Amino acid sequence: MSQKIAIYPGTFDPITLGHIDIAERSSKIFDKVFVVIGVNSNKKSLFSEKERYQMVVDSLSHLLNIEVVTYNGLIVDIAEKLGANTIIRGLRAVSDFDYEYQIALMNRKICSNIDTIFMLPDEKYTYLSSSIVRELAQYNEDIHHFVSSNVAAELRKKFGKNIVEIV
Ligand code: ADP
Repeated sequence: MSQKIAIYPGTFDPITLGHIDIAERSSKIFDKVFVVIGVNSNKKSLFSEKERYQMVVDSLSHLLNIEVVTYNGLIVDIAEKLGANTIIRGLRAVSDFDYEYQIALMNRKICSNIDTIFMLPDEKYTYLSSSIVRELAQYNEDIHHFVSSNVAAELRKKFGKNIVEIV
């Protein structure tokens, strides 16, 4: 039987516990999940491609059927290259839906054999986003509820040593 392969694309700037939650759920459903870190030179990110890659690898190392790749291009193209016919996206709230719906239909228009599935994180992560984490870290707020310890350390390096981390 052929393997069920999916991709989970995103910016991951940086990876949060919400992303990890979706990756963990996906890894139980699919034989193989490629986490695809989007590299878009027009989109300014706090962390470089290399930094984001390393943080994702470190945060997901407990999931053995997950592989991390970086990619600059159309999502459906990387899905095809990796032999995946499913794109996973996380839905936090209704506010995510309009945008995600549009992208999913557009991707299907470009490549009709690739489907998008939406997954809900644990409700404690529904308000969480990379941009909120970046903002909190910038103002030295405690972020240990929102990111793994390796990511907290990277944010501390970026914004200075005053970020409080309570273990
Ligand atoms: P993008 O720029 O592609 O939206 P993100 O890294 O912000 O990249 O998000 C990647 C995917 O992870 C998206 O499907 C997004 O909805 C989902 N996601 C982000 N944060 C969370 C969260 N807290 N819970 C569940 N899904 C999330």
